[in-house]
Amino acid sequence: GYRKGGYHAARPGDRFAGGRFVAQRKLGWGNFSTVWLAYDTLHSRFVALKIQKSARDYAHAALHEIELLSAVAQGDPTNSKCVVRLLDHFKHVGPNGQHVCLITEFLGDSLLRLIRYNRNKGIGLSRVKEICRSLLVGLDYLHHELGIIHTDLKPENILLVSTINPAKDPVRSGFTPILDRPVGNQYGGTVISFSEKMLKMRARRAVAKISQRRVSLGGVAAEFEKERNLDGISLKCKIVDFGNACWADQQLAGEIQTRQYRAPEVIIGSGYSYAADMWSFACITFELATGCSEDEDHLALMMETLGKMPRKISGSGTRSKDYFNRHGDLKRIRRLKFWPLDCVLVERYNFTESDAQGFADFLRPILDFTPENRPSAAQCLKHPWLN
Ligand code: ATP
Ligand code: MG
Ligand code: MG
Repeated sequence: GYRKGGYHAARPGDRFAGGRFVAQRKLGWGNFSTVWLAYDTLHSRFVALKIQKSARDYAHAALHEIELLSAVAQGDPTNSKCVVRLLDHFKHVGPNGQHVCLITEFLGDSLLRLIRYNRNKGIGLSRVKEICRSLLVGLDYLHHELGIIHTDLKPENILLVSTINPAKDPVRSGFTPILDRPVGNQYGGTVISFSEKMLKMRARRAVAKISQRRVSLGGVAAEFEKERNLDGISLKCKIVDFGNACWADQQLAGEIQTRQYRAPEVIIGSGYSYAADMWSFACITFELATGCSEDEDHLALMMETLGKMPRKISGSGTRSKDYFNRHGDLKRIRRLKFWPLDCVLVERYNFTESDAQGFADFLRPILDFTPENRPSAAQCLKHPWLN
């Protein structure tokens, strides 16, 4: 990450673009960049600052993203097409090299956070529909008006539109801009200002009082927004992250999309177009409506082949409650179809009975849900299947 060619290590109070933008705090990151909340001193507003890694390929990807987002902005003067608005771009030189930077409008939490906050309940179909409408407006615009395929639609690349706008309402959002580098006040490993420390303490107290299913929307105002109920919140959202997007007639990459949202035509390499985005859209919608993630699906698949996970294991994790109820059953996936390993090998992979038996004998003990029960590599070496 933070080395030559990699991320730029920013701190609150750092200035960019000749002093115009002041870094406030980190909002998120991806494989290509870190994204900061920044204060635009020229227009007295908060914006998002995406600082790309500096190596050539990353710079190239950022310039490509700028090209596409410029077209997006140009075709949508009223900013109503549910795609993030590019406001400015520039280069920033730091110890790790020269970083292309994008300034975009500041948005709220991602759908990934929305799904996580609502694991137990789901967000309800009417809210799913609202998000669908936003996404479809955005996709229709990109596909049919601009000829752009996004190619990386996934929950973390879709951001809710913040209802509290700290630029307009700094008091309610509980945030006043940091304009200078704070004098060293070590807190949680990073230097932050005293006012932000106070903010965090207040926020923590507020969060402690509220129920899990409430959601945060505001990015910087996230902790405060958690106090609010989903009911009062507009679920407009916007599509972000055009680092992998392409013009439909100038496709570069053969392998696009993130695994869980990848369309079948992409997997088999038979060519793709706008419909690949539609596949990802459907996957996201399913995830929103069921509250079920690939992790839970993955656990279900394990248990269908290996039997129920022992309670001792299923209840032992910090995220156990996200997936299991107190009986040790999966919360959302109700009926498992048990299909033991040796049968899978015979019925699906065409093994002979005896090959399947021998191989399953070897694998089963290693696939024990209880880590301590799994044989070591040395023990596996002694297994009769190998000898
Ligand atoms: P990837 O690895 O997915 O390609 P990336 O490095 O291209 O990621 P982005 O996806 O653009 O970076 O942004 C990373 C994260 O930063 C987002 O998932 C989101 O949490 C946050 N973020 C990005 N843009 C904004 C914005 N305009 N407002 C608020 N948060 C944002
Ligand atoms: Mg991203
Ligand atoms: Mg990206």
